[in-house]
Amino acid sequence: MRFARENDVTAAQADPAKFTDGVWRSEILPSRAGEGQEPGLQAHRFAYQPGARSAWHTHHGEQALHVVAGRGLVQRWGDAAATPIGPGDWVHVQPGEKHWHGAAPDDTLVQLAVTASGGTDWHEPVSDDDYRGASARALTRHSTPTDPPHPTSTPTVPKESA
Ligand code: MN
Repeated sequence: MRFARENDVTAAQADPAKFTDGVWRSEILPSRAGEGQEPGLQAHRFAYQPGARSAWHTHHGEQALHVVAGRGLVQRWGDAAATPIGPGDWVHVQPGEKHWHGAAPDDTLVQLAVTASGGTDWHEPVSDDDYRGASARALTRHSTPTDPPHPTSTPTVPKESA
């Protein structure tokens, strides 16, 4: 058993190869790889300034994201729009699912990330144009509840074998 005390948590600027400017990363439960143990569960807290975000990436294992404060966005590769997330929301990211997460354009985001054992593969950054487009579509979609469901949110119904 190990305990992580809030008083011991420190923040450092997130790796600029993986995140835009304005992202602060706190290691709550560090990987235990290198200690002669299985890497195990990892936990981090991220604080994003408005518009800040990760690059596209995929986790080898599952990842659970939990929003503590502010407003953020998550986008899955292949989806035209990002999905807004807010305090109390959880996102369960599947292994190998390419995605990014970050703050909304006009709010900060504080989120916890719990990542299963295994590494992360980092891909291309989310360009300013792509971020603006994905966030504009997301915010428009969710600020007008009378709109019909967005096509990409329609669940795929498996075909029954005849
Ligand atoms: Mn992730």
